[in-house]
Amino acid sequence: MIRDQETVNILLDTISRFVRERLVPQEAHVAETDQIPQELVDEMKELGLFGLSIPEEYGGMGLTMEEEVLATFEIGKTSPCFRSLFATNNGIGAQGIVIDGTPEQKRHYLPKLASGEIIGAFALTEPDSGSDAASLRTSARRDSDFYVLNGTKRYITNAPEAGIFTVMARTTPDSRGAQGISAFIVERGTPGLALGPIDKKMGQKGAHICDVIFEDCRVPAANLIGGREEVGFKTAMKVLDKGRINIAAVCVGVAERMLDDALRYAMERKQFGKPIAEFQLIQAMLADSKAEIYAARSMVIDAARRRDDGLDVGTEAACAKLFASEMCGRVADRAVQIFGGAGYLAEYGIERFYRDVRLFRIFEGTTQIQQLVIARNMIRAQAD
Ligand SMILES: Cc1cc2nc3c(=O)[nH]c(=O)nc-3n(C[C@H](O)[C@H](O)[C@H](O)COP(=O)(O)OP(=O)(O)OC[C@H]3O[C@@H](n4cnc5c(N)ncnc54)[C@H](O)[C@@H]3O)c2cc1C
Repeated sequence: MIRDQETVNILLDTISRFVRERLVPQEAHVAETDQIPQELVDEMKELGLFGLSIPEEYGGMGLTMEEEVLATFEIGKTSPCFRSLFATNNGIGAQGIVIDGTPEQKRHYLPKLASGEIIGAFALTEPDSGSDAASLRTSARRDSDFYVLNGTKRYITNAPEAGIFTVMARTTPDSRGAQGISAFIVERGTPGLALGPIDKKMGQKGAHICDVIFEDCRVPAANLIGGREEVGFKTAMKVLDKGRINIAAVCVGVAERMLDDALRYAMERKQFGKPIAEFQLIQAMLADSKAEIYAARSMVIDAARRRDDGLDVGTEAACAKLFASEMCGRVADRAVQIFGGAGYLAEYGIERFYRDVRLFRIFEGTTQIQQLVIARNMIRAQAD
């Protein structure tokens, strides 16, 4: 749903200019240093990028899902590490509070997340619980006005920078599966919360992940999201439904960027006396990429509109994430191929994108998990 086309156009123009003029020139530097310069972080805050999807009453822009994916298409046209820094505040690191938080939790945390004063992280995955997230073992034992958390969370995006963590933990000790899991807001600096060293990754340098370790970490009972036990897994899944549409949108943006770069290169690079863009085998790669990006873009917009209409988008979000992330991998591969030897060299940047986008098929539910979700929903619907 687009509420006011003119306002959205202004926002998209502003983001597009910021991406082109400020972020793209810094891509190589950030990849080398594994750090986003503070001045760029400050500019992201000024532009409101940390609060795109946080309601206006809490200081965010309150974008609808459709407006947000349009913004994400633009944000996607540069290294995904930039987006990663503010994406958790718009997505997995804040939406648990936006969707299911108590009024006090919203009032206390959302304005700080919207302004970028604090970063939010989402801690679901554990060393022995990845795709099978419902098997998580981190425990939260009630002790008067506190819960005492014990366990380890793994691969947590922005954990090194985070001010708060949305943590899924088991409040009912003997429960199994999704039952018995509750969601908590845990503040950085809470005694008993420790961070592991920053993990070295294949790509997306500048975006950081690490372990988050809880050892008798006492969290005020007031920080139980929504004030209710045993609904934390549902909260996490609602957060991920939205997150998957967003990841699909980034995939579209990055794929458009890679295809632009590949097209420009194909029109400049000459072999056999003419630009390689004139060879039909190169054209096939360009055309297949264009068609697949168009398909993914249409899926993302449709899923976003359905979510804005209040419909259950579990299947559509999984379809969009599955198709767009796989599409993005194919476009990255073709782009490297079109660049030839230059595609393999760090200097041209396309190999960096090739590594960066590999993650999209893995996190927020692997491709195989999206397939399982889609098929499970199909079978359920048929049986009803
Ligand atoms: C850079 C990065 C950032 C991340 N950020 C976060 C974060 O902020 N918060 C968070 O909680 N987590 C985060 N994760 C974790 C991420 O969501 C998990 O890595 C992902 O869900 C997969 O879990 P796993 O790594 O344990 O793989 P596994 O679950 O061990 O899967 C290994 C392989 O087995 C396949 N597989 C598993 N089960 C099945 C099945 N039933 N049928 C068919 N195939 C199956 C998988 O698809 C995969 O190919 C992040 C991970 C990375 C790498």
